[in-house]
Amino acid sequence: MEQDRSSQSRPPHVLVFPLPIQGHINSMIKLAELLAIAGFKLTFLNSHHNHERLVKFNNIAAHFERYSGFQFKTITDGLPLDHPRSGNWFLDMFEDTMEPKMKESLREVLVNSSPPVDCIIADGFLGFALDVAKELGIPIIFFRTSSPCCFWVYYSIPDIIQAGELPINGSEDMDRLITTVPGMETYLRCRDLPTFCRKLDIEDSIMKLVVKQTRKSLQADALILNTAEELDGPILSQIRTKCSRVYAVGPLHAQLNTRINAKHGESYDHFSNTLWEVDKSCMFWLNKQPNRSVIYVSFGSITSTSREQLVELWYGLLNSKTKFLLVVRPNSVIGKDGEGEDVVMELMEKSKDRGYIVNWAPQEAVLNHPAIGGFFTHNGWNSTLESVVAGVPMICWPQFADQHVNCRVVSEVWKIGLDMKDVCDSKIVEKMVNDVMVDRKEEFAKSASEIAKEEIKMVQWRPIHLKRSKAETRTRR
Ligand code: UDP
Repeated sequence: MEQDRSSQSRPPHVLVFPLPIQGHINSMIKLAELLAIAGFKLTFLNSHHNHERLVKFNNIAAHFERYSGFQFKTITDGLPLDHPRSGNWFLDMFEDTMEPKMKESLREVLVNSSPPVDCIIADGFLGFALDVAKELGIPIIFFRTSSPCCFWVYYSIPDIIQAGELPINGSEDMDRLITTVPGMETYLRCRDLPTFCRKLDIEDSIMKLVVKQTRKSLQADALILNTAEELDGPILSQIRTKCSRVYAVGPLHAQLNTRINAKHGESYDHFSNTLWEVDKSCMFWLNKQPNRSVIYVSFGSITSTSREQLVELWYGLLNSKTKFLLVVRPNSVIGKDGEGEDVVMELMEKSKDRGYIVNWAPQEAVLNHPAIGGFFTHNGWNSTLESVVAGVPMICWPQFADQHVNCRVVSEVWKIGLDMKDVCDSKIVEKMVNDVMVDRKEEFAKSASEIAKEEIKMVQWRPIHLKRSKAETRTRR
């Protein structure tokens, strides 16, 4: 992106607008910081609710004041501040409740922006931002924070349906290959599709919403993805058959760390952008453990587990030959009348010698700690990339969204982990933990460190030219 310097002497003003969810904010705020380092004026548009939490748990004022052109603005996400925003809240409420209010607020921010916004980088799930950008004549880039592989699967769903490979009928072999997603014909099975594809109803509203937003992402002036050519090259080539302006700019956390370290040295304060209070005590516990002896267990910022699942996982961990660091987010265990919280207290008490449990961990630092030898993950895309970059092999227990596809890529394409999708049984947990941490430890450590070393290179930023189009209505100030 480059300003037209003949008509403008100020730095270009970019508005970055994430979906109001932790995983999306994480990568978009990193992208925003990278652009601020490169000299752009930046407005980061956060929801009131998430901004309150960012301010509460991070020193964002001190961190971002070093970038003179960086500002936060906040708008509503359409829900009351005290809404719990847990479970399936997002997809259930997006179209009717959130979208109309966010659209109106975005428009207002853009119309009143001074200096005017020269380019919008919006979360690719916020398709309405394209309509607003067109109306106001502002160039727009969509940023899809999920994996390119999953983006491509979402895009291909209408073709999968047309070929009669969906719906999956109830009694079917879930290992059947899906042959209509170009580039994935040899490894994508029914069970690796996003979970909404398991419904018999091909008119399912969530499936339709996801396909609609995905197809719309390719109508923007450009599409950026949080990956590297070396990691996802074959799938990026497939996506480029539908849109020529597709850029791989990641892994963003690694890009940012490298640039910050080069500029300020390794001791510089890195911003964690977390929406929960980080429990750093686990780092002291890790300091006391031998190298590569601990498995880190965390399922991201949205996933919930039932009480029974947590107990199965915990027994598997306890019976394995390894120690564990387990994250259990507050309110993430589903049980009746506080049963969830009780079970966590009980497990904490019984785990004292074998494990450590926290509500929220400093994940990037944990994954880079020498004591960590494996990551038991839900395969959210940020977590997956963080693990890849840290060279940590994974046990994959995906729950929804892009996680099933990511899990397949990790285990079958990159071969840096084991796939545990669709099961939660203490014996299997125990076996997989022993495989990754003990019995096949060197094999996995080698493949994971090879990907981390060889595949992740620094992206060279280069200008792309985006033209302001003629606004469709109303003059901007
Ligand atoms: N995370 C963290 N501490 C935790 C758990 C998660 O800092 O205890 C961070 C993690 O580093 C990642 C993000 O939360 O950047 C989760 O994003 P991801 O895409 O993996 O999953 P999602 O939360 O969107 O399901």
